[in-house]
Amino acid sequence: MDKMQEIVALQKKFFQTNATKEVNFRIAQLKKLESLLRENEDFLHEAIYKDFKKSAFENYTTEISLLYHDIKEAVKKISKWSKKKRVRTNLVNLPAKSYIIPEPLGVSLIIGAWNYPYQLSIAPAIAAIAAGNTVILKPSELPINTSKAMAKLINENFDPNFFRVVEGGVPETTALLNQDFDKIFFTGSVSVGKIVYQAAAKNLIPVTLELGGKSPAIITENCDLKITVKRLIWGKFLNAGQTCIAPDYVVVHKSVKNKFLELAKKEIEESKFLVEEDNYVQIINDANVARLIALIDADKVYTGGKYNTDTRIIEPTILTDVTFEDNVMKDEIFGPILPVIEYEDLDAIIAKIKEMPKPLSCYVFTKDKEYKQKVLNQISFGGGAVNDTVMHISNSNMGFGGVGDSGIGAYHGEYGFKAFSHYKGILDKPTWIEPNLKYYPHTKSKLKWIKRLIG
Ligand code: NAD
Repeated sequence: MDKMQEIVALQKKFFQTNATKEVNFRIAQLKKLESLLRENEDFLHEAIYKDFKKSAFENYTTEISLLYHDIKEAVKKISKWSKKKRVRTNLVNLPAKSYIIPEPLGVSLIIGAWNYPYQLSIAPAIAAIAAGNTVILKPSELPINTSKAMAKLINENFDPNFFRVVEGGVPETTALLNQDFDKIFFTGSVSVGKIVYQAAAKNLIPVTLELGGKSPAIITENCDLKITVKRLIWGKFLNAGQTCIAPDYVVVHKSVKNKFLELAKKEIEESKFLVEEDNYVQIINDANVARLIALIDADKVYTGGKYNTDTRIIEPTILTDVTFEDNVMKDEIFGPILPVIEYEDLDAIIAKIKEMPKPLSCYVFTKDKEYKQKVLNQISFGGGAVNDTVMHISNSNMGFGGVGDSGIGAYHGEYGFKAFSHYKGILDKPTWIEPNLKYYPHTKSKLKWIKRLIG
C-alpha cells in the first residue's frame, strides 16, 4: 500500500466507526477548529503576508472572518440540518411514513486554490465536517507558507484519521486523485477542474467544482455612476484582482463611458493602493506577473500599466477602447487589469456575453428595473449582484457556486452541508395491513381497481 492509499484507508476505517455520525462530535471538532484559528490569527497572518503581502485587514475580512461565520452557523444549525425530514406519503404506499435521512458521504478530498488560501481550503472542510465526513485537505502549493501553516495547525491538533492536511503540488494531487474517495471538492481553474472531474468519474465519485471564468460588469446609462465606480473598483482591485468573482471586464454604455473612466481613475487614486503601506497585495508568483504584463496593451492604457517584476506589483490598470477580439478578453484575467468595452445596445451586448462560457459572476449597475430583469433573466451565471460586486459571497443563505464552465454545485451554509451529504429516502411501512392489489396473480379486476385509484 503506498502512502496516499494508506492515508485514505485509515480515514475509511475511522469513518466506519460511526464517530462522525454524532452531531456532538462534529460540533466539538468545529469549535476546536475555531479556537485554533482564533489563537493563531497572528501566525496565520504572518504566513500569508510572506506569501503575497496580504494585510492583516484583508486576512481578517476576506479569509478568517468568513471561516468564523461558517463555523458559527454550522454549530448552530447542524442538529436541524442533519435531522430526518418527514415528507408526505403517496397514495399507493399508504399506510406508511416517509422521510429523508441526511447522511455523510464518507471520506472527502478537498483541493484548494491559492488566491484566498485559508478561506478556500478551510471553508469546504467546515462544510464537510458539519455533514459528518472525514477530510483530507490539499491546499494550493503556491502560497507555500499558508500551506505549511494549515498543515501545522491541523496536523498537530486533529486526529489524522479524521482531518489531515496533505501538502504538495501536481504529483501529490495526482496521487490523491487516484484514490477512491466518497467526495471530491475542488476549487481552481477550469482546466484542472476537468482533470479532477475525469479522475472522479473513474470511481463515480461525486464532485463539487468551484471554478472561474470571465465575470462581466454591465454599467448602463442610468446607473448611479459614483457608487457604481466605488463598488466596482473595490471588487476589482481587492487582492490585486486575484479574486474568482472579481469583475473581469466592464461593458459600459457609450453615453457614460468617459465619465465612468474619469471617476474610476479618481477612485483608484483615492484608494491609495500603492501609497499606503500594506494596502495592496503582490501577484502570487513570477509566472503570473509575466502572464499579466503580456495582457497590458500599452496603446490602450487609460491609467496604471506600470509594474515591478522584483516586488511582483502591477499597478491597478484600466484599459480602454478594448474589443472582444483583444488578447485580454480571451481568458480570465485574474489580476489588476480592467478592460473597458463600450456598448450602445443592451440586447446586443447581452447576446455577446451569452456567446461566451457561463461566468461565475455577473454584475449589473442600473436603476432601470427592465434592464435589471433582462440581465438577470437572459444571462446564465453562478451568482452575482445588482449595483454591487463580490459581496454576494458573504450571504451564506444563497449558497455560492458556478454553472457550466464556472462550476458544478454550491457551498456555504446549508448548501455546503448538502454538498457533503447524501439524502436517503425511506419508506417506513407498518405490518398490520397489506392491500393485495399489486401481488400476483395480476387479474383484470385488480387492474381496474388500480386504474381507479391511480387515475
Ligand atoms: P489551479 O487549477 O491551478 O490549482 C488548483 C489546485 O489544483 C491546486 O491545489 C493545485 O495544486 C492543483 N493542481 C494544479 N494543477 C494540477 C494538475 N495538473 N493535476 C492535479 N491537480 C492540480 O487554480 P489556481 O491557480 O490555484 O486558482 C485560480 C483559479 O481558480 C482561477 O480560475 C479562479 O477563478 C479559480 N477560483 C475559483 C474559485 C471559486 O470559488 N469558484 C475561488 C478561487 C479561485
